[in-house]
Amino acid sequence: MGKPTGFMEYDRQDPGKRPVKQRLGDYHEIEQPLNPDEITKQAARCMDCGIPSCHTFGCPVHNRIPDFNEMVYHGQWRRALEILHSTNNFPEITGRICPAPCEASCTLGINAPAVTIRHLELQIVERGWKEGWIQPEPPAEKTGKSVAIIGSGPAGLAAAQQLARLGHEVVVFEKHDRVGGILRYGIPDFKLEKHILDRRINQMKAEGVRFESNVNAGVDISAGYLQRTFDVVIITAGAWAPRDLNVSGRDLDGVHFAMDFLIQQNRRIAGDVIDPAMEITAQGKHVVVIGGGDTGSDCVGTSNRQGAKSITQIELLPQPPRERSINNPWPQWPQILRTSSSHDEGCERMWSILTKECLGDNGKVNKLRCVRLEWSPPDEDGRTTFKELPGTEFELPANLVLLAMGFLHVEHGPLVTELGLELDNRGNIKVDSTFQTTTPGVFAAGDAVRGASLVVHAINLGRQAAQTVDDYLMRS
Ligand SMILES: Cc1cc2nc3c(=O)[nH]c(=O)nc-3n(C[C@H](O)[C@H](O)[C@H](O)COP(=O)(O)OP(=O)(O)OC[C@H]3O[C@@H](n4cnc5c(N)ncnc54)[C@H](O)[C@@H]3O)c2cc1C
Ligand code: SF4
Repeated sequence: MGKPTGFMEYDRQDPGKRPVKQRLGDYHEIEQPLNPDEITKQAARCMDCGIPSCHTFGCPVHNRIPDFNEMVYHGQWRRALEILHSTNNFPEITGRICPAPCEASCTLGINAPAVTIRHLELQIVERGWKEGWIQPEPPAEKTGKSVAIIGSGPAGLAAAQQLARLGHEVVVFEKHDRVGGILRYGIPDFKLEKHILDRRINQMKAEGVRFESNVNAGVDISAGYLQRTFDVVIITAGAWAPRDLNVSGRDLDGVHFAMDFLIQQNRRIAGDVIDPAMEITAQGKHVVVIGGGDTGSDCVGTSNRQGAKSITQIELLPQPPRERSINNPWPQWPQILRTSSSHDEGCERMWSILTKECLGDNGKVNKLRCVRLEWSPPDEDGRTTFKELPGTEFELPANLVLLAMGFLHVEHGPLVTELGLELDNRGNIKVDSTFQTTTPGVFAAGDAVRGASLVVHAINLGRQAAQTVDDYLMRS
C-alpha cells in the first residue's frame, strides 16, 4: 500500500479538458494529463483493499490496480508498467477510452469519489513510451505453427501480439485499407489520435506480426485457402451489422448509418480525399442523431466540429436516473445518466422518443416526425414496454439523420457461411469454453462472439483466445 491515510487526505482530481471553444476547432485529444505531484497523490488514494473489487470484479482484463498504484506512489514507474502490461496489451488505448468499470467498483466509491484508475493507467504507459521502456518483445524461438487472424480490432490485435510473442507465425487480415478496427475507423480522433495506434502496431510488426490490409477474407481469399494455409484461424471480425430504422422515408438522401459518417471523418484526418458525391457532412445542417449511446455521442462531437447548425440526440429509452437506483448497488456498473465531453460541447438530448417517419423534399430529408413515449414499470422479469402518448407528435428539423441505434451481430458474410460457423440465438459466432467455433481449428473472439461491447472486453477475449489457441497448437 502506498500511503495508508491517502484516501482521507486527498480528494479525487480528474484530468483537465481543453476549453470547449478551443477543442471544437480541431480533432486533437481533449484531455490534459495531471502533473506528476498530483498523480502521486491520486495513487496514494488507493486503499489496497483485501479483496480489490476493481481488479477482481470491475476490470475485464483484471488489471492489478492496487499493485500499480503502490508502485506509482513510490515512484517505481517502470515496475508499475510491467505490472500493467502483464494483463493488458494496450493500456494507452484503455487509458484513454475505457469507461472504467474498475472505478465503478472501487471500494472508495461506496461513500467517496473513486480512485482515478483510468488516468493512472494512462500516465504509467505514456511514461513507458516516453522513457523508451516499451520495446518490441520478439520470441526467443519460433514454434513453426501459423495462425491467421481475421480482423484487426482490439481483439485481433491482442490475440496477434500474444501469439507472436509465444513464437507462432501470425498474419492479420483486414478488409479495410488500414488496420485497427473501430479504433481506427469509428472512434473519433478527439478521443483517440491514430498515431497512438500506429506506435503499438509498429511494435507488433517488429515482434513478427504480419498485417495484410485490403483483404476481405471470404471474398478476396477463400475460407478454404485459410484453412489449408494456416494451422488455426481466429475470427475477430467485430459486430458491424447495424440496427436499421424501418420507417417510411428511410431511403431519403441525408439519412445515414453513423459509422459511414464517422469513418469518413477518420479518413479526412488521415489525409484521404473523399469523393464529393459520397460526402456526408454536418456543416450548416440541422443534425438529428438517433440513438443515445457512445456511437451517438461520437456523432455529436463530430457534428459540432464540422459546424452543424443544430444537433439533437434522441433516444427511445427513458432518461436514466442521476444516481444509482436501489436495484443497481455498488459494485455493479451504474445504470445512470452519462454526459460525455461531446455532450458538454453542445447538443439537445431527448429521451422516450420514437421516430415515426423521415420527411423530405426532392428526395432529401428535411424533418423527422416523432412521438413521445410512456414506459411501463418493469414486470417480474424486469421487462418494460412503451406506449405512444396521444397528442404528443412533433417534428424536428433534420437535414442530416445519423442512425446510431447499435449493432446486431457479426456480419453474416461469405466467411461465416463458407466456414460453416454456427451462430447463437443473437446472431453472434458460437464458441465453446476454449473459444473454438463449431468448425475444428477455427476460433473466434471479441465483438464477433460477445456482440457489440467495449475495447477492454475485446482485449480480454483476444488474450484468452490466444491462450487456448496456443494450448491447441502445442498439443497438436
Ligand atoms: C463509434 C464507436 C465508438 C466506440 N467508442 C468506444 C469507447 O469509447 N470505449 C470503448 O471501450 N469501446 C468503444 N466502442 C466499442 C469498441 O470499439 C468495440 O467493442 C471494439 O472495437 C470491438 O473490437 P473487435 O476487435 O472485436 O472488433 P472491431 O474493432 O469491430 O474490429 C473488427 C475488424 O474486423 C474487420 N473485418 C470484418 N470482417 C472481415 C473480413 N471478412 N476480412 C477481413 N477483415 C474483416 C473489420 O473491418 C474490423 O476492422 C465504440 C464503438 C463504436 C462503433
Ligand atoms: S482497462 Fe478499463 S476497467 Fe481495466 S483498469 Fe483500465 S480503465 Fe479500468
